[in-house]
Amino acid sequence: MLKTVKFGGSSLADAAQFRKCAKIIHSDASRRYVVVSAPGKRSWNDIKITDLLYRCCDAAQNDLDFSDSFRLVRERYCEIVRELGLELDLTAKLDHIEKKLRNKVDRDYAGSRGEYLSAMVMAAYLDWPLIDSEDYILFREDGSFDAEATQEKLSFILQDTPCAVFPGFYGGLPDGRVHTFSRGGSDISGAIVARASASDLYENWTDVSGLLSCDPRIVDNPAPIDVISYAELRELAYMGASVLHESAIFPVKAAGIPVNIRNTNDPDAPGTMIQTNPKERHGRTITGIAGRGCYTSIMIEKDQMNEEVGFAMRVLQVLARHNIIVEHIPTGIDIMSVIVPSDQLAPMRDEVMAELWAETRADSIKINDNMALLTVVGQGMKNQLGAAGRVFGALGHAGINVNMIDQGSDELNLIIGIDAEDLNPAIRALYHEFFG
Ligand code: ASP
Repeated sequence: MLKTVKFGGSSLADAAQFRKCAKIIHSDASRRYVVVSAPGKRSWNDIKITDLLYRCCDAAQNDLDFSDSFRLVRERYCEIVRELGLELDLTAKLDHIEKKLRNKVDRDYAGSRGEYLSAMVMAAYLDWPLIDSEDYILFREDGSFDAEATQEKLSFILQDTPCAVFPGFYGGLPDGRVHTFSRGGSDISGAIVARASASDLYENWTDVSGLLSCDPRIVDNPAPIDVISYAELRELAYMGASVLHESAIFPVKAAGIPVNIRNTNDPDAPGTMIQTNPKERHGRTITGIAGRGCYTSIMIEKDQMNEEVGFAMRVLQVLARHNIIVEHIPTGIDIMSVIVPSDQLAPMRDEVMAELWAETRADSIKINDNMALLTVVGQGMKNQLGAAGRVFGALGHAGINVNMIDQGSDELNLIIGIDAEDLNPAIRALYHEFFG
């Protein structure tokens, strides 16, 4: 058994958290590759190290003094090192970073240093080697991640490296400069190391005991999700339920490596297991419920629309020209709606409307800005008679009007359009029906 473990910022916020991580690592000999984030917030009003570094970088670019912010970075690492009782002296490294910042180094380098220093501290504390991701997680010149080159180089070095600590979040460009993933990207680094090391499991340690079946701000104490498939996770994440960077699943999914979301502050909790085809299910029909407001539906009516070749294409071309994402396209015989994110439509609404009238010569075009999309996700719905009936029955009993219904062809999810103000009551009604 071989495991790659990744610890997020809240798991490394101070020396006590570093100790918890080390205890978790030492408690299981198969946890051999460790990927770390930069120290996160210690309390709600604290500032993440990565944010402080970006702040220093932005100030330097504008010729402003950033010494107060950098002092906070320096103090945080020095305190962690001191409290862990390490002999490590980071002064020269910190001086070097400060000097680079003064010389207006780029944002990627600045942001990456939080993870770099974090990995130095963790490597010293575990007394394990540090592998700098700059040399092994490879990006192309255009900044896109080069999965094949990375896999080749990283898996080669790992053959002779029984254990190691890696800084998350960044890698290197062909010209040697540091390049970062998007925010929260250490999750991706962890998945890359898990794949390159052919780990049996990728443990992602954070500050919650896995995913919940719905948003705890809407339903009190929702049931935790013990097992979920990658496909289900993707559906829920798209609607805003998230504990993992969305790009992090691709490297492990391709390699068939399960991901276990675990809580550093409650290491005995089993967390959520994410895998391709979970066998041991919880026996529930529904895995999770999520939803988001802020959608607009554009309803286009025209007599004999169904006989007009290319009608839908012309509608979609107008939206594509304005770079607007189309979420759903419910259609009737002489009616077609497109559902789009309201914030994307708002700035170019008049132009889009004018072009739609011109391109379609419709009888009417109506806009409804007050739309929410609700997604009910569950592999258990597949081939299960009556599952959809229960969903709509529960919404009907709660007095919620359904504007749109869309079911993915894999029967994995039901997407339901409702009025924005009905979103929270709808989530509660469905939770009650399936989990209550
Ligand atoms: N430290 C980076 C961030 O705050 C990356 C990460 O934590 O995953 O976004």
